[in-house]
Amino acid sequence: MPLGPPLLALAAVTALTLALASPACAWGDRGHIIVTEEAIGRCPEPLRGLFSSEVDRKRLDQAVLAPDQRLKKEVQGWAEEHPKHYFDIDRLTQEPYPFKNFPRERAAAEKQFGAEALREAGTAPWAIMDALEALVGALTAGRTDDIFRHTGNVLHYGADLHQPFHVSKNYDGKMTGNDGIHKALEIGVVNRHVDFYRAEVRQGRCELACLPSPLNDAFDWVAEAWTRQKPILEAETIARQKANYNPAKTLADLDGDTSDAAKTYYVTFKQELEKRNSPEAAAMRDASGHVAELLYTAWVRAGKPLSLAPAPPKAEPAPSIPYWAIGAAVALFILLFWPRRRPA
Ligand SMILES: [Zn+2]
Repeated sequence: MPLGPPLLALAAVTALTLALASPACAWGDRGHIIVTEEAIGRCPEPLRGLFSSEVDRKRLDQAVLAPDQRLKKEVQGWAEEHPKHYFDIDRLTQEPYPFKNFPRERAAAEKQFGAEALREAGTAPWAIMDALEALVGALTAGRTDDIFRHTGNVLHYGADLHQPFHVSKNYDGKMTGNDGIHKALEIGVVNRHVDFYRAEVRQGRCELACLPSPLNDAFDWVAEAWTRQKPILEAETIARQKANYNPAKTLADLDGDTSDAAKTYYVTFKQELEKRNSPEAAAMRDASGHVAELLYTAWVRAGKPLSLAPAPPKAEPAPSIPYWAIGAAVALFILLFWPRRRPA
């Protein structure tokens, strides 16, 4: 059925609102791969081994990047996909950090703020829970394709929720004079220092816990990510002023801009971040540990399967033939074939 003009206008406004609501590809491709690599490295055996072959690692990387591929406007369903990547909690509530009174359950949050407001602010915590549940089902049944798909979703949305500019209405720094900071951080800075971030996420490895209430944990992650904006904004302000450079004007070439201004900007930005203990690296490190725990939790809930494929059917034990049946068969044989005297 064709949409009438009012519906078309509504659809266009909704799409535009979502498109402007938040740039959704947190961490960029390289950042997501760094977090994924470390998350699998943190998993205990035999879980780690399930994703460790070269083929499976490639397949997992593709699955982790797939949610950002689905954000392309030409992909059907991108508007439903978009809010799953972020959760701008301060857009919904006036409550200050650490947002302890924010309703955790989606139905309660929808009741309080309205479904449309929730879609605009993002739904990442619940998208993670949906993906986690789907992953438990796929692991339990050994549905290999679904296991990769849902693991990719869990790792992607989980990592996105740790990006400090995925949990705030100031998602691109416009409210503080830092426009363009979102991608300048996750692509411009990260892609220039891949080895540094790879080493940083490996720090502080510890034994994974099976999370009894991952939704509550997700809200703790949001609060933690939210506090990391301030030092990053400060660092970026200094870099922007020193280099007289606005990354919002070079969005198409964030990691390839080799102009003097870009060099000064990114060198200063990184130095100022380090002076503040690299909060963006801490965010990626936390992301690695937490998404590893999500994966571990799903695996434990699914009964710790030892394979990503369906369990082979159990061999049926050979039916035993009862003695009376053997006796009856022998008797029948004798009756039928015992040599009889031919009648004279
Ligand atoms: Zn994303």
